[in-house]
Formats: sequence, structure tokens, C-alpha cells
Amino acid sequence: MNLANSGLNQIAEALDNREMSSVELCEDYLTRIDDAEQLNAFITIDREGAIENARQVDENRQSGASLGPLAGIPIAHKDIFCTKGLLTSCGSRILSNFISPYSATVVERLSAAGAITIGKTNMDEFAMGSSSEHSYYRPVLNPWDTTRVPGGSSGGSAAAVAAGLIPAATGTDTGGSIRQPAALCGITGIKPSYGRASRFGMIAFASSLDQAGIFARSAKDAALLLDSMCGYDPKDSTSLDIPPPQCTQKLETPLDGLRIGIPEEYFTAGLDAKVAEIVQRALKEYESLGATLIDVKLPNSDAAIPCYYVIAPAEASSNLSRFDGVRYGYRSEHGESLAQMYRKTRSEGFGPEVRRRIMIGTYVLSHGYYDAYYVKAQRVRRLISNDYSRVFETCDLIMGPTTPTTAFEIGAKMSDPVLMYLNDVYTAAVNLAGLPAISIPAGFDELGLPVGLHIVAPYLEEARLLQAAHLYQKHTDYHLATPDLVT
Ligand code: GLN
Repeated sequence: MNLANSGLNQIAEALDNREMSSVELCEDYLTRIDDAEQLNAFITIDREGAIENARQVDENRQSGASLGPLAGIPIAHKDIFCTKGLLTSCGSRILSNFISPYSATVVERLSAAGAITIGKTNMDEFAMGSSSEHSYYRPVLNPWDTTRVPGGSSGGSAAAVAAGLIPAATGTDTGGSIRQPAALCGITGIKPSYGRASRFGMIAFASSLDQAGIFARSAKDAALLLDSMCGYDPKDSTSLDIPPPQCTQKLETPLDGLRIGIPEEYFTAGLDAKVAEIVQRALKEYESLGATLIDVKLPNSDAAIPCYYVIAPAEASSNLSRFDGVRYGYRSEHGESLAQMYRKTRSEGFGPEVRRRIMIGTYVLSHGYYDAYYVKAQRVRRLISNDYSRVFETCDLIMGPTTPTTAFEIGAKMSDPVLMYLNDVYTAAVNLAGLPAISIPAGFDELGLPVGLHIVAPYLEEARLLQAAHLYQKHTDYHLATPDLVT
């Protein structure tokens, strides 16, 4: 079996047929991880834990015990998810000594389905960034071209799946952090509707936008993981008490009369010509599969980035106030008074991008600016959300590019935060509206870099999203391509 691009079903089947044991499978993936160390995709690798758990699953299989759908399959978690007994750094110095005493609900659910945690993936500090260069650890490299970024903030998970170091991984998406790196690394990345997956144990960045999701090689694999991961959790007051999405079961349901909305605002200046061409081709492919393309308008698209960059930092400034050197994590040695200890801890513990966000967030929430910025941004958020509701009256899905360009060079946008923020022009609005969305591979530019197709569905329609993605993947093979680095 070629581990570089095997699907979860193939792997599960091989385990079921005793072609290999879960221990052997984990060892093979661990070797692949070691061989691709230069990508910096991982912050922590839990060799012993993974092998021990794999041995347990092998024993259970041997004894004929009933096994979960992911039994014995190794996966990785973004280092934003708390994992009991393992370092959970969130890519930050301030948590660089934090061993979590409990696991996130998402981690627990995937483990309960039989998945084996092989390690924790590298990321932009506190999930703030679009390139995974803002990690306290080394920057993650893109396996398609190691002089380029994998996208961010979940770049470690994306690079690991793209390079076949692991068949699937978790990520989080606050403004695009699953879909943008999925696009730049040529894999499938899905963010479910806000409230579908529990945020318990997922370190908070912007609580009204954060959502856990999946990186996988195909929509089919993503469906399997999503079904295991989603569902009501009494420990998260924003988790929805509704039946799970049952994406796997609905995957093959035909999408008769599918109407796809194409927002005119997506194909304007700023979009790379080659990316536009490839996305247009993908839309034609959908047309030839029976879909109808409808021109639509999302008139407030322009406001998404400014609105996001008021709301997300505001929430971050509040969420990150808990990192003070007292409760847990890094503490500066240099403070002579309590106030000085707080200040030094936070100045030394947070990197420049996180400090910038805290400053912006504190500013927009401060007395005198609250109405002018924060309240106004909330109003704009409603307008953006209404745009989608209106469009979904006449179509079933919205499609367009995931990102304006393919993967850019390391360092290219580090000195210009706004340029970095613009990576999320197509994705951030979706989080503001709380909708589910996916990025799937749609082709390659002239440099051989992957291009992502972005699909957005109405609230709670992740099954439809995955049906459409699966339909495309049955007729194309972009999702099966692997970078040269991978053997
Ligand atoms: N790139 C965006 C930011 O920096 C989105 C990050 C995310 O989705 N976590 O905030």
C-alpha cells in the first residue's frame, strides 16, 4: 500500500484483513515523519503513546472486540487541542511548558472512534496567521516547494497530510486556517458550521468564530472523521444539541438539479489569473456533471477582512488575558512586582503577531472606541451574514477560489501584516456567518503549486458540501497527486 496517498477506507480494510497491524502502520508513518523532519510539520511526536495505543487496538482486533470506525488509524492534532499528558503549546512560547491535564472533546471523540494520536502539529502562534511562520517553533515548509509556506494557521496539519506523514489531521478555522492551508497544500480541508464541533479543550482565539475541522486526502475521508468528531457537548455552551450530520451515509446521494452560486465579487482584481482559470475550469466540470451555474452577488464581501480584523482581535484580547504567568505556562524571571511580572511574562511569552492582535483588540474594545469599531463591526457582520442568506434562497452552494494566489515564498509577507491578512479574503466572511465550507484540490498552476476550490453551504449543510466535493473527486484526480518529496 502506498501510504503517501492511501484513503482511510483502504487503510481500514488493510487492517481488517490483517495485511498489517496497527503497530506496523504507526511505525511506517513514524518513519515517514522522521524522513520529512525538514518540513517542521510537528511540534510533538508521541512515539511510545502511539505504539502503545496501536498495540491495544491490535489486541482488541485479535480478540474480536467491536472496534470503532477509525480503529488503529493514526492521526495528528493541531497543537491548539489539549491532549492529556502531552505538550499543548498552541505554537507559543507562553505555553511551551504546558502539559495538558485533560483532552479536548474533539480529541476524545476521535480517540473513542479508535484513532491513534501520533503527535501534535505545528501552527501559527495561537492560530494567528496565514503562513505558519508565526510559530514559536520553526516555520512549517510546503511539501510541494520547500521554499514556500504551507499556509496557516494549521500549516503543520496541512503539510503533514499533503506529504503523507499521516492520513488525516485536525485543524481549526477562525478566518480560513483550515481551508487556506488545505488549498496551498493540495488537500481537502473542511470547516463545519459554527456549533457542530465542541470547542471544549480547543484553546480559544476568537470564540464566536473558532471551529474545529479536518484535513484529509478526500471528501470521503473527511466525512468519516467529521461524523466521529461532531455532536453535542454539554461542556461547550455554543455546541448544538442536534443530531450529527451523518455525512458518510449521505455521501453518494445524487445532487439532482444542483444550483451553484458564483459571486461576482470573487473574480476581481487581486485574484491571480491562473488561479481564476483553474477555478473556472472546475466550475465547468460541475456544469458538465449536471449543475447549473448562477451569477450571484455578495455585496459586502469587501468588508469581510476589516470586520474580521476588529472582531477577532477583540475576542483574542479577552481570551488571551488568562495567560499571565500565574496560572500556567511560561513565567518571566524578571518581574520585581506583580504588575511587572505580568508585563514581562506577556512581552516575552507572546510573539509579535499575537502582541499586535492584543493591542488592536484592546483598542477596539476600549471606552470611546467600542461603538466606533466593535459595535460597528458587529453590524457589518450581520450584513455579511444576510448576504449569504439571500444568495442561498436561489442556490444550493456557493463556489469560488479558496485563496487569491498559490503558496507564496517564505518571508514574502512577514513584514506586511495587511498583505498576510488578505490571504483570507474569500474565507473569513464564512466564519463571520458561521457557515460550513470546504477547500478541495482543483489543479496546479504553472509552477506545479496546488490550487483550491472553495465551496460554501448553508448553515448545517455539511453533508451537501461533502456530497458535492465527493462528486468532483470521483471525476477528477487532483486530490490523489502527491508532491515529489514523497516516495
Ligand atoms: N489568517 C487568519 C488570522 O490570522 C485566520 C486564522 C485562523 O483561521 N485561525 O486570523
